[in-house]
Amino acid sequence: MFDWLIVGAGFAGSVLAERLATQLKQTVLIIDRRPHIGGNAYDCYDAAGVLMHRYGPHIFHTNSSEIFQYLSNFTEWRSYEHRVRASVKGQQLPIPINRTTLNRLYGLQLSTEEEAEAFYESRRESIDTIRTSEDVVVDRVGRELYELFFRGYTRKQWGLDPSQLDKSVTARVPTRANTDDRYFGDSHQFMPKDGYTRMFERMLDNPRISIMLQTDFNMIKKLVPYRNLIFTGAVDEYFDRCYGALPYRSLRFEHVTLPKEWHQDVAVVNYPGDEPFTRVSEYKHLTGQVHPFTTITYEHPTDIGDPYYPIPCDSNRALYRKYQALAASQSDVHFVGRLATYQYYNMDQVVGQALATFRRIRDAEQRVAPDVTDRSFASA
Ligand SMILES: Cc1cc2nc3c(=O)[nH]c(=O)nc-3n(C[C@H](O)[C@H](O)[C@H](O)COP(=O)(O)OP(=O)(O)OC[C@H]3O[C@@H](n4cnc5c(N)ncnc54)[C@H](O)[C@@H]3O)c2cc1C
Repeated sequence: MFDWLIVGAGFAGSVLAERLATQLKQTVLIIDRRPHIGGNAYDCYDAAGVLMHRYGPHIFHTNSSEIFQYLSNFTEWRSYEHRVRASVKGQQLPIPINRTTLNRLYGLQLSTEEEAEAFYESRRESIDTIRTSEDVVVDRVGRELYELFFRGYTRKQWGLDPSQLDKSVTARVPTRANTDDRYFGDSHQFMPKDGYTRMFERMLDNPRISIMLQTDFNMIKKLVPYRNLIFTGAVDEYFDRCYGALPYRSLRFEHVTLPKEWHQDVAVVNYPGDEPFTRVSEYKHLTGQVHPFTTITYEHPTDIGDPYYPIPCDSNRALYRKYQALAASQSDVHFVGRLATYQYYNMDQVVGQALATFRRIRDAEQRVAPDVTDRSFASA
């Protein structure tokens, strides 16, 4: 009899397994239908010996010192600030759009933030109520930059025009008047020094934690005895899609190893034009690995395949709310993580959600057994 069955060995499941085993001294069986731990953050050495990310590039960034401290129990870090270029009109230009982007695209010499702001002001189309992903960008930088950098990319990525998508999608990408070309503005921007999978291995390395891979929840739910359940898979799947399937956008990853040291100047280049892929990632920029070969990944968005991105629009949210109500009525099951809560979360947000879930579980247990170990999660 396990105290806990945890479905999914990504960030949500692994953080909870680690906390329950080390802090509450409880036994955990963690399962995943994939042949590896780490969920979408899984990385591995490919046939050429290049460390790569099977499910696309994962860059850790957070403003939470607490989450950073927690993960630091399981890894050392490599400083890394992410930079992205967009392939536009034959140039590779900084995205988020900044002053350098404007100067290189239009052959300008804007030298101050005021000049760049005046440029945006002269191009923007003021929109009273910003509802869609198109509104956000057109209101800030105008239609031409929107079409060059956002429209095609978003249509490929989501299979929908930005005017059909919630504003949250493009609002994630800022527009800058300075020359800061970092993709993220967070206070902590790092990569795990030995990779994500190594970090997960250390997290789960505990005699109270058992791991079963290539194991689907449906295969074992009636076979394995457990007291409590944590489910980090898709919430609609858990309920046999009784209200219909929640829509997801998927990706086909085309991994290619090239017999040369470098392929591109930065880790990610976006392709907002007619190419069939959205972006190309080159892992050695992220990992710092020195190797005579390089591995890159083309991302081809598709409707078929693993669920990666919940599609944010009103009708999907309404459908999710029905599942959410059903999930809330299951007092003995905790639904945690991006699939179980139908929300695009970054890794740090999922870690935060898992730690908050752990605190709720611990507090509930302490009401029953007040002598349970109580240690801060910042020190394992
Ligand atoms: C292409 C891409 C790039 C990303 N880049 C970044 C980035 O740069 N930075 C960042 O912070 N975040 C990034 N993310 C988001 C990041 O992947 C997620 O925040 C994180 O993986 C969520 O962890 P999770 O545990 O909720 O889900 P997952 O990692 O998806 O783990 C869930 C696991 O549950 C398993 N599972 C599901 N159902 C079952 C079942 N019935 N039985 C058994 N196992 C099951 C799945 O196989 C999966 O391994 C990216 C996501 C994608 C898709």
